[in-house]
Amino acid sequence: MKHLLLVGAGHAHLYVLKKLGKHSLSDVKVTLLSPNEHQYYSGMLAGCVEGIYSIDDIRIYIGQMLKKAKVQWIKDVAVSIDPENKTVQTGNGEFLPYDAVSFDIGSLTSGTDLPGVLEYAETLKPNYRFPVLLEKVRNAEELVIVGGGVAGTELAFALQTWRNQNGKKPLSLISSSNLMEKGAPYVSERVKRFLVKKGAKLYLFQRASEVNRDNIVLSPTDSKVPFDALLWVTGPSPPKLFAESSLPNANGYLLVEDTLQASGYPSIFGVGDCIQMTESPPLAKAGVYPVRQAPYLWKNIKGFFQGSRMRRYKPHFSFLSILATGNREGLMLYLGRAFHGRLIWLIKTFMDRRFIWLYIRRKREEHQVSSKWLTIFACTLITTILVGLIFLFVVSTYHPVMSTMATFFSSFINRFFAGLFFFFLIILILVLFFERISFK
Ligand SMILES: Cc1cc2nc3c(=O)[nH]c(=O)nc-3n(C[C@H](O)[C@H](O)[C@H](O)COP(=O)(O)OP(=O)(O)OC[C@H]3O[C@@H](n4cnc5c(N)ncnc54)[C@H](O)[C@@H]3O)c2cc1C
Repeated sequence: MKHLLLVGAGHAHLYVLKKLGKHSLSDVKVTLLSPNEHQYYSGMLAGCVEGIYSIDDIRIYIGQMLKKAKVQWIKDVAVSIDPENKTVQTGNGEFLPYDAVSFDIGSLTSGTDLPGVLEYAETLKPNYRFPVLLEKVRNAEELVIVGGGVAGTELAFALQTWRNQNGKKPLSLISSSNLMEKGAPYVSERVKRFLVKKGAKLYLFQRASEVNRDNIVLSPTDSKVPFDALLWVTGPSPPKLFAESSLPNANGYLLVEDTLQASGYPSIFGVGDCIQMTESPPLAKAGVYPVRQAPYLWKNIKGFFQGSRMRRYKPHFSFLSILATGNREGLMLYLGRAFHGRLIWLIKTFMDRRFIWLYIRRKREEHQVSSKWLTIFACTLITTILVGLIFLFVVSTYHPVMSTMATFFSSFINRFFAGLFFFFLIILILVLFFERISFK
């Protein structure tokens, strides 16, 4: 019997586990090597921090999936790979043999080599520490966040909102650059304004140069910011094991071909944050990539064992990104444009819940709030379309002033599409008005 070893329970491996639950691979034993029985969904962390979601809303319990897929679980981490002997060494010193191995182990946090960070700061990775971290950052009197990228900014919004609601002192956010500087400058400015309005203290263009037990020293100003909880969210860094195992890597990220197989090692697969593709510029470290790579990984793992054709994954470079900005509002970024408001939060909630529902089935009543809003939204949409269609039929046919239009609307098809067009326009105007969505 052959052996497939899955390392890490990241997004793509969840998909593989789910597929294995439906279609097992004949004559292949599957093992998952993962330190945690819950996988936390990063898209919903901010909502949980703010108190909108419970911990169980945002995490996926892998135990049930493993049982259904008849996959053995080894609760440990991978520390090195021996591609010649086809073994993976675990943290406990065990050597696991494989015929094919797949890595979906995410990334680590950068900047943790600065003295004091590992000792005094909290990082979100590994993510199963989230419940402990949450208590600590929520209860802190003086909370400091380091990192002004998308993740740091989103957490600052969530934590500041929670602090406002619970009568806590404002948090401080430190960033060596402008906020979310990888986006358009006007987005940085707008986000900065929102955060300051919520009460957060910003230290921008200042780098943490020293981390002590109860304060952080900034450069170049040499000012000291006191803390009793420090959250370190400075962006991704590569896992150490690929470079240490001398596998082909780009700055530590496993180099894979478009079949998601490591260059020169077809029995090693890799997906998500921990890889870099040979034929493409570096992809953003975002959950959207392992999600899109997952079906290719599954087909290619099957192809590997069954000798069938390998699928080629072609990455896309633009993707929709929505961050929560507190109080059930969201900021959508797409192709250099930004939209903000409550409707964006609703879209985000829908997308996030849809992802998590793929993997967990919970009691119906727990989702009553969101289903209520979805129902209201759907009913409004349908009513507006119906009323609008009737209106257009009547007006375009009988109103004398609209005789030219009446000619146009004489065909049913024209009426129907024009009707649809006008009603989406009406909805858009209503939404803009009530939801205060802002366009650039
Ligand atoms: C606060 C925050 C918010 C974010 N919001 C978004 C968002 O809204 N949208 C988005 O697209 N992206 C978002 N991201 C980025 C997103 O979290 C990552 O890009 C995504 O989780 C990467 O998925 P992955 O499958 O590669 O790995 P992960 O989801 O990180 O999973 C890796 C798994 O492997 C395990 N593991 C790690 N090392 C080992 C090892 N050596 N051996 C065995 N197992 C191991 C880990 O414990 C973990 O369970 C956010 C990140 C943060 C920090």
